Amino acid sequence: MSNANESRKLRPFGGFIAAQRTVEGGGFVVRRPFPTSAVDHIDPFLLLDEMGPVVYGPGEAVGAPEHPHRGFETVTYLLHGAMEHRDSSGGVGVITPGGVQWMTAGSGVVHSELPPEAMLLAGGKMHGFQLWVNLPASKKMVAPRYQGYDAEEIESKVLNFGGVLKVVAGEVDGVHGKVHTTTPVTYAHVELREGDSLTWSPEASHTALVHVFDGEVIVNNEIGVDGHMMVFERTEGVIEIRCESTASVLLLGGEPLNEPVARHGPFVMNTHAEIKQAFEDYQAGKLVQ
Ligand code: MN
Repeated sequence: MSNANESRKLRPFGGFIAAQRTVEGGGFVVRRPFPTSAVDHIDPFLLLDEMGPVVYGPGEAVGAPEHPHRGFETVTYLLHGAMEHRDSSGGVGVITPGGVQWMTAGSGVVHSELPPEAMLLAGGKMHGFQLWVNLPASKKMVAPRYQGYDAEEIESKVLNFGGVLKVVAGEVDGVHGKVHTTTPVTYAHVELREGDSLTWSPEASHTALVHVFDGEVIVNNEIGVDGHMMVFERTEGVIEIRCESTASVLLLGGEPLNEPVARHGPFVMNTHAEIKQAFEDYQAGKLVQ
């Protein structure tokens, strides 16, 4: 008997990146696969931070006070807790557990990302991710845009043994995310139970990352454990994910931009002159159009 699964070519494994602990924003601890001294970025992704999990006592919750961005997108996906987003144009939104905010900073945004008053007062569990997605030169100065979805709006399916696949953007195992990405990007969250499996088929030329943030998975016959990002080569082949216990992973895929990256703090452009211009615009109060 032939098995269709066995005939599919598996995408070659490229290596692991261990997430490093660091302190970000107003003093919250993150686990960060990149950027680090070892890995600056993985085109088109510039940063991945896992915020928490942490349980705050009353008055302890912290976030990121007002700061600018230009030239890329920030994607905030929460598993626990809440985050209130305020931007310089007066917009206010609260990201709740299971919800996502996909912010295209484009030409410029000044915003704060803070625990809402109720969470600040009472404390509580906080756990989530922020991903930075680079924009190509032709889109770095587009008008800012926000896309937000609550937990119940995220496209999902239950796996054979009780796990759940949630797709924010792109397509994984037949599930299509709702976010309209600026360049082709896939963002999915998978909770796996013993016996669960799924297949992801990224475009051959695209980056494909499996970030394990709880438990243990088997991806293309390599074992990935908590706190490790599994990097796959940019070539043909599917990504087959299996679990023999329990695991939580993010799947991140995208078309590489193959452009120079000039980055400094909250600004990511193509040249140092553009970074200098961003600082000058911010200091002159002209970052936000
Ligand atoms: Mn921000």
